[in-house]
Amino acid sequence: MKLKICHMYNDVLNLYGDRGNVLCMQKRLAWRGIDCEVVRLPVGEFMSLADCDIVFIGGGQDFEQEVLLSDLHRGKDSEIIAAVNDGVSFLTICGGYQMMGNYYETHDGVKCDFIGAVDLYTVGAKTRMIGNYKYKCSDSVGGSTVVGFENHSGKTYLGAGVEPLGKVLAGFGNNGEDGTEGVHFKNLIGTYSHGPLLPKNPELCDFILLTALERRYGIGELEKLNDSAEIAAHDAMCGRIQ
Ligand code: GLN
Repeated sequence: MKLKICHMYNDVLNLYGDRGNVLCMQKRLAWRGIDCEVVRLPVGEFMSLADCDIVFIGGGQDFEQEVLLSDLHRGKDSEIIAAVNDGVSFLTICGGYQMMGNYYETHDGVKCDFIGAVDLYTVGAKTRMIGNYKYKCSDSVGGSTVVGFENHSGKTYLGAGVEPLGKVLAGFGNNGEDGTEGVHFKNLIGTYSHGPLLPKNPELCDFILLTALERRYGIGELEKLNDSAEIAAHDAMCGRIQ
């Protein structure tokens, strides 16, 4: 058994060690004896996503998002939309998450037309939303409590009927107004959680791996791992974030 992960825009969307999420997915597969190939897809390169199982896109500043716009609209946009609709698993973080939506209007008035793979949009605020935060995932994503770190100016608003990833327990989440965090659409997850999201939230990591394994191989359950260190780290942070 083998999964193929595409790490898109690894060269420009790479804030706060977001790439650690790819290492985490790889490791948790390896511990279960499942092979994993990671293919990096930087600006200027093109590939079909048709045979990918998981696509990962990290976060970046407004500047990087503007820089990659023309590259995005040179074919990656339609590949992403087709893959999302085909049920490929996606994990997209902050700037990468915003990119899945219709547009992002920065706080200084630059409008980035994104790809509309999911019906959502983002508007930049003058005051950034920064800090450790936590949220409770919807039952459709396993219902776990996620601890994370957010740093964004963009306030994201979901279209009618679009489901959030979860509900904010402490912090800002999508916009600091409606209590929602992230998005869950088909097998795509978008979130504002930067950095080591998956290592300290192993349940969410396994949820993503399982959706990919189910789609490719019809596997309905993952072998349990000894997550005592991960759970201790998670619970320590969870207690600290109020
Ligand atoms: N540029 C976006 C914002 O500030 C995304 C930031 C990020 O990825 N950290 O809203």
